[in-house]
Amino acid sequence: MNHHASFRPAPKLCAITAVAAFALTMGAAAEATATPTVNVSESPTWTQVRAVKAQPEVKELQVSVLERTVAELSAKAEQVRAEATAATAAFVDAVYELPDVSARDTITAPTVEPLQPIVALGAGLANPVPAPATASTDDTTDEPTPDTPEARVELAATTQAAVEGELAQTELKVAETLAQIRYLTGPLEDVEPFQASVDAVAKRVAAEAETRLQEQTARKQAEETARLAAIEEARWANPGTGRISDVFGPRPVICSDGGCSSPFHGGTDVATGCDAPIFAARRGTVVYAGYDGTHGNFVLIDHGDGIQTGYAHITVGGIFVGVGQWVGTGQHIANSGTTGASDGCHLHFEVYENGNQVDPQPFMWARGSNIG
Ligand SMILES: [Zn+2]
Repeated sequence: MNHHASFRPAPKLCAITAVAAFALTMGAAAEATATPTVNVSESPTWTQVRAVKAQPEVKELQVSVLERTVAELSAKAEQVRAEATAATAAFVDAVYELPDVSARDTITAPTVEPLQPIVALGAGLANPVPAPATASTDDTTDEPTPDTPEARVELAATTQAAVEGELAQTELKVAETLAQIRYLTGPLEDVEPFQASVDAVAKRVAAEAETRLQEQTARKQAEETARLAAIEEARWANPGTGRISDVFGPRPVICSDGGCSSPFHGGTDVATGCDAPIFAARRGTVVYAGYDGTHGNFVLIDHGDGIQTGYAHITVGGIFVGVGQWVGTGQHIANSGTTGASDGCHLHFEVYENGNQVDPQPFMWARGSNIG
C-alpha cells in the first residue's frame, strides 16, 4: 500500500505522460461508446479537459467517462472508508490489549472523517453522479499476527494510517474528477477556479495527513518514555565493586573483636577495599541505619513487595543515609569498612525475601544485574 504516499494536487505536471494516457482513454472510449473504458488510476489533466471543452461531441463523451470514473471512485472510497473504520476499531482494540493501562491515556484513536469539500463539489453537478458500482474485492493479506501487544498496536496503527492515506487519495481524486465535470458542463471558461477548489482539497488532505503523522510520532514517543520508565522501574544496580571473596552458604565461624560470625554465611562478600562506595541495589526506603552486632555498621533498605537488601561492615562514619529516607537505585549510601564480625574491609551484601535470607547472586542475576 505504498502508492498513496504522495498527494496529487498539481495535474499541470507530467503533461506528456498524461496526454498519452488521455489519448489511450479516448481511443478506447471511441471504440466502445456504450460502456467507456475508464482507467481509474489516471484522470485527464486540466489542459486536456480545457481542450475538450471546445469540441461538443468529444466533450459529451469525456463527461460520461468522468462520471463513470466518479462512480467507481466513490464506490472505492465507500469501501476504503469502511476499511478505515474497521482499522481504527482494530487499533483501539490493540491499545486496550497493552499491559500498561496508562498507555491508553497517551493514545488518541484516529478518526475517519469524510472530506466535506468533496460533498460541496459534487452538489452543483449538471448530471447527477451515478450510484456506486459494486465494491471491488479488498486486498487484505493474511500476514502473521505479531506476538506482543506493542507490536500489534504498531501494526494496527500502520494499517490504519495506510488505509486512511488511501481513503484521502481516493477522495482527492473524486474531488478532482467532479471539478472537471463541473468545468466541462458549466458556463465558465476559466479552469483556475476549479483547479483552485481541488488544490484546497489537496491542502486539507495534506494537513490531515500531517496531523496524523504528528499524532503517530507523539504516540511513539509516549511508548518509548513508558518503555524506559519500565526499565528504570525494574532496574537493579551493583552494590559494590570488587571480586567475590565469599559466597552465600555454610562456612566456618569467624571471630573477631566485634564477635563471631554465623556458621551460615547469609550474604555475598565483595572485596571492595576500604572506604569504597556502596550503592543501593534498588530504590527504596531505609529501614535501618546504624550499628547492628556482627553486621557492624549496617544499612537495610526496604524495596517493597517483601524484598529488602542489607549492607554490612560499613566503615565508622560511613553511613550517609538515615532511617525513613528514600534512596534511588544506585545511590551512594555508604562507604565500606570492617566494623562488626569482619577480618578486613569488604561489603557484606544481603537480600531478604519476606524476611528470609536468600542467595544474593542468583537473585541479582535474575534481575539483570551483577554483584562485584
Ligand atoms: Zn559476609
